[in-house]
Amino acid sequence: MEVRVRYAPSPTGLQHIGGVRTALFNYFFARANSGKFILRVEDTDRERYSDESLQDLYDTLAWLGIAWDEGPIVGGPCGPYIQSERFDLYRSYAEQLVRDGKAYYCYCTPERLEAVRVKQQEEKSEVQGYDRHCRNLSEAERAEYEMQGIKPVIRLKVPTDGKTTFHDVLMGDITRRNRDVSPDPILLKSDGFPTYHLANVIDDHLMGITHIMRAQEWIPSGPLHILLYEAFGWEPPMYCHLPMVMGKDGQKLSKRHGSTSVRDFKEKGYLPEALMNYVSMVGWSYDGQREFFSKQDLEQVFSLNKINKSPDVFDYKKLDWFNGQYIRQKSDEELLALLLPYMTKAGFVSAPLSSDQESMLLNLTKVVKERLKVLGDVVDLTRFLFEEPTYEDVNLFAAKGVELAVAVSALDRAFEILKQGFEAGESHATTEQKLTDLAGEMGLKVNGVFMPLRVALTGSTVSLPLFDSIGLLGQEVTCARIENALALLKREVR
Ligand code: GLU
Ligand code: ZN
Repeated sequence: MEVRVRYAPSPTGLQHIGGVRTALFNYFFARANSGKFILRVEDTDRERYSDESLQDLYDTLAWLGIAWDEGPIVGGPCGPYIQSERFDLYRSYAEQLVRDGKAYYCYCTPERLEAVRVKQQEEKSEVQGYDRHCRNLSEAERAEYEMQGIKPVIRLKVPTDGKTTFHDVLMGDITRRNRDVSPDPILLKSDGFPTYHLANVIDDHLMGITHIMRAQEWIPSGPLHILLYEAFGWEPPMYCHLPMVMGKDGQKLSKRHGSTSVRDFKEKGYLPEALMNYVSMVGWSYDGQREFFSKQDLEQVFSLNKINKSPDVFDYKKLDWFNGQYIRQKSDEELLALLLPYMTKAGFVSAPLSSDQESMLLNLTKVVKERLKVLGDVVDLTRFLFEEPTYEDVNLFAAKGVELAVAVSALDRAFEILKQGFEAGESHATTEQKLTDLAGEMGLKVNGVFMPLRVALTGSTVSLPLFDSIGLLGQEVTCARIENALALLKREVR
């Protein structure tokens, strides 16, 4: 039997980590079993639908390099794959259930349903929800309602006794008493729109879905779906409900924990291969040891029996670590191409680049490569190269415990050493040693000399390593900045 799985998001918000993990597991499972990965857009909830969410779905999968075998845009034998284009079909299946005595028309007004709800509450009644008023209407009663022009909904006849069991690959058998299943849920609304349950079950059947991998939060819907399959006389697919993705505090991952939308991660400068790799490790492992997997690897080794039963934590720090690893695997040229949009957006550079600029940027890339967690870090790390420092707080020049006047003379003397070094073509190591010696001579810690230099060159007390910064700035700019800083400081301490 060919494996056919689907990712069936509702386009009511941006794609988030949990959803994308579901997509990835389905995709990898399909690939590992030479099956088909289907994308289905569940847009029955027209109020919460947005075009932006649908576009974000497509963009996210494209960014991750996840292509679907059947679905919107590419089509396929079971199309259309967008539920709002299949409404007639759901209606005819719902009417079929009514004809087969598995479902029925309900004419209750919202007012009546509300009154039932209030009464149940007042009486602290054990049964909550619809009171099945229309389940056994006579033909005459039905005709009467129809005469009044009331548009009915269609409700499923949930058995009032017995139990329903479904099997989950991870969780085993899950059983509910039928009387605990929602009393006769609506399948088709009075405007002819299907509800989620109806459309979802019909489509999974018609699209030949063999395995349903979706978040554990859908487990409560399981029995109802099984009852629907039974009502239609269809064989249900295999279920595999995926463990939830949690924040560090054990709560379902949400904005409180940090970014959750894939778009955010992309904008900050996470690489798709890093996000894909890490997200695939949340709730799944190969052998409990190996962590690095390319997309191609996962397409081969992914298997259901390695999925965890219990929820797993999404660890932002771990993702940063993965991202750093993937950044360092890039060639300098590749990485520069990825960094350029960030530097362009910050106004540091603009196309077209001169060849001088390009070689400077390539050097910059070499220097920052080891230090980037996300691509966007390049902006703060290299701002000093593109913007003149303003030295707003002169006290920054003085390392801790050093008087400003002492810092100024340290800078003055360090500048002489640097200039001599430049002229003599000295190695960095030699010049660095001389600066260290200078600190000793002046009775300062090394920072007493390096700090004013660093601040003069970058305007900041934290920066790339000093000689890397000098290398990127070039001798001329280096000297000019130190001269500027000295002029300003000398006015200050006079
Ligand atoms: N549209 C549902 C969702 O967004 C699909 C659930 C399922 O996979 O059955 O989660
Ligand atoms: Zn009713």
